[in-house]
Amino acid sequence: MKRKKTCLIAGGAGFVGSNLSDALLAGGFEVICVDNFRTGRTTNIDHLKREPRFSFIEADIIEALPASLGRRRVDWVFNLACAASPPHYQSDPEHTLLTSVIGTRNLLSYAEQARARFLLASTSEIYGDPQVHPQTESYWGYVNPTGPRACYDEGKRAAETLVFDYGRAERGEVRVARIFNTYGPRMRADDGRVVSNVVTQALAGDDITIYGAGTQTRSFCYVGDLVEGLIRLMEYDGSYGGAVNLGNPAEMTIHELVERVLRLTSSESRIVRRPLPVDDPQRRCPDISLAKRLLNWAPQVRLDEGLRRTIAYFAEDAAAAASFPSRPNRRPAARKTSARTSERLAKMKNASVPQMERTLTNS
Ligand code: NAD
Ligand code: UDP
Repeated sequence: MKRKKTCLIAGGAGFVGSNLSDALLAGGFEVICVDNFRTGRTTNIDHLKREPRFSFIEADIIEALPASLGRRRVDWVFNLACAASPPHYQSDPEHTLLTSVIGTRNLLSYAEQARARFLLASTSEIYGDPQVHPQTESYWGYVNPTGPRACYDEGKRAAETLVFDYGRAERGEVRVARIFNTYGPRMRADDGRVVSNVVTQALAGDDITIYGAGTQTRSFCYVGDLVEGLIRLMEYDGSYGGAVNLGNPAEMTIHELVERVLRLTSSESRIVRRPLPVDDPQRRCPDISLAKRLLNWAPQVRLDEGLRRTIAYFAEDAAAAASFPSRPNRRPAARKTSARTSERLAKMKNASVPQMERTLTNS
């Protein structure tokens, strides 16, 4: 019988990483998750505790990797480790940059020794505030190398450089996914990204914060679709040697996103304006022709459906945290948040709303 592959996922306790773990385990793979819990959470992987094909190692990929890893046979290494929301990655910029550079180098060396295929979770941020629209993989980007986003953007650009140099030197098989804005269950309520902010604000009846005019655009990919794309890219046996965009090409303004969430939650929250963060990209939308051609991949989950699932997740999460019985049979759109749940959501938000917003904004 053919042995099922073993996958190492660095950043496996995070939002995308834990969803990827679930999908790989469901496909019969073994999963070793490595995480330092900088932004990841035990609750994302608690349900896997009794799964014999899942193991967890607490480690920071900037440090030497634990010796126990050397004794494992690993076929695929996914590097997802890196805080991904602007307030979180800017809260310790040095750690963010080193995670991408030193951490990626450590994992590449490990993959080389293990003869494992390596995939880097890169980002649309490497295009910066793009001057080419929509963004194709051939576009080199327009990044401010000294601004507050640089620790993430330049870190990921350097990580891509390392990965492609390994590939060119034939030190291993490498893949790079450029991930565009992704949302869904297991995002943190205190993440600071737009979908988690707006959904939790709408559920709690708090003011909805729109940064700037709200005319800046993004396109939002449901996490299940992204995970499918990551697995297809890792599986891809062809010789294509560049990065591949993974994201949803349905572009919209932040204002339009907010209107959708307000409608789906039947929320009466009002919209308030906050200053636009420094270097906030004005337009972003992936060209996914390459992913379609190479991987036969395109997002399947429509935004309303993905948002319904995400709203249900945050409502359940807050209800559970507030020790309130959840009511799974009620449609999320019709759900009215209880007073204690609202209070709980508000606390989660207050704990989170980043100082960064105030310190790193264009006035
Ligand atoms: P996340 O913050 O939920 O997950 C990142 C995980 O990496 C966390 O569990 C964190 O604890 C862990 N981590 C961070 N630094 C580490 C270190 N030095 N050592 C070990 N573990 C470390 O973010 P996410 O949204 O799940 O993103 C996952 C990956 O995908 C990131 O690399 C991110 O750059 C990339 N990405 C995500 C998006 C998105 O919209 N979600 C968009 C573009 C790129
Ligand atoms: N944004 C917003 N309100 C929020 C959080 C974010 O208007 O509460 C905006 C942010 O300024 C950006 C967009 O939404 O223009 C997406 O932000 P996010 O942090 O989710 O991801 P980014 O694409 O900027 O990395």
